[in-house]
Amino acid sequence: KKVIFSGMQATGIITLGNYIGALKNWVSLHEQYNCLFSVVDMHSITVRHNPAELRKRSRDLLTLYIAAGLDPEKNIIYYQSHVPAHAELAWILNCYTYMGELNRMTQYKEKSQKHEDNINAGLFTYPILMAADILLYQTDVVPVGNDQKQHLELARDIATRFNNIYGDVFKIPEPYFGKVGARVMSLQDPTKKMSKSDENTNAFISLLDEPDVIMKKVKRAVTDSDREIRYSEDKAGVKNLIDIYSAMTGMGIESAVANFEGKGYGDLKKEVGEAIVEGLRPLQTRFKELSADKEYINQVIKNNGEKASYLANKTLRKVKKKIGYPE
Ligand code: ATP
Ligand code: MG
Repeated sequence: KKVIFSGMQATGIITLGNYIGALKNWVSLHEQYNCLFSVVDMHSITVRHNPAELRKRSRDLLTLYIAAGLDPEKNIIYYQSHVPAHAELAWILNCYTYMGELNRMTQYKEKSQKHEDNINAGLFTYPILMAADILLYQTDVVPVGNDQKQHLELARDIATRFNNIYGDVFKIPEPYFGKVGARVMSLQDPTKKMSKSDENTNAFISLLDEPDVIMKKVKRAVTDSDREIRYSEDKAGVKNLIDIYSAMTGMGIESAVANFEGKGYGDLKKEVGEAIVEGLRPLQTRFKELSADKEYINQVIKNNGEKASYLANKTLRKVKKKIGYPE
């Protein structure tokens, strides 16, 4: 079986964007592949955070993975910080990555504008840690949203460079982008991607939002002054809602558009809101049940963390030997 690695940060409760762009795809892949799904808590500290919140959100995220349908018996669902090999390999790869390469990363540019008071080195080297995450497990495929495309390219470049020097150490990973709605946009500014760390909570729908909150946020979504429901780039707000509708109902874009023919923005928002509420209902119910079962979650954290460590250390040992660390 081929290996899949993917992860999410616990910088907030994950959003509908994370669900449609990533988690939902993971669920469709987790039977065919050997999958590792990480809560990448080491990435989360690249922006200033609250420790108690990070702890709680990390656990909620891991629980959400399972609630969404990922199976911790068949996949490895774990905390990145429980596997020190991530940090060790990241350091090594630091020395095989050029400043110029990191300078070109658009996420760094965006995030450093947003967090002007805290442009730390971790924010800059974030893509190297991500490369380490992926390369440690000899990953074949990385399912990510479009926003991570550039980082994945860099991981491939780093791996190729390393292999050219030391022989075949790393598998070169391939990206996997979901079909529909690979990029869900902000409800408040549909030219920006939906992001769980957005300070405006109306901009995103969190997977744990109550139905009335979901309806309200969709109702407030920014569209345009026009009235026509059309699927087109120049109508970013409407297009985004149709994309979400299509992803949540499984309906193709054309039939989704046909469904809204002759209807107004009010109807559109109501139906999209309902599709989200219904689509998330089973996940939300399961999340509550799982959260109550502390023992079970603790045991997943421990077992799965050990499995991940075992695999990661196999690659790390090989790397250390290749670069000449004394035995
Ligand atoms: P942050 O603002 O903290 O970076 P984020 O919402 O971008 O949060 P990440 O943890 O960085 O979330 O990304 C987790 C996964 O979700 C990645 O695979 C990423 O590609 C995907 N993803 C993030 N935002 C979106 C989006 N708006 N649409 C589709 N996929 C997304
Ligand atoms: Mg992100």
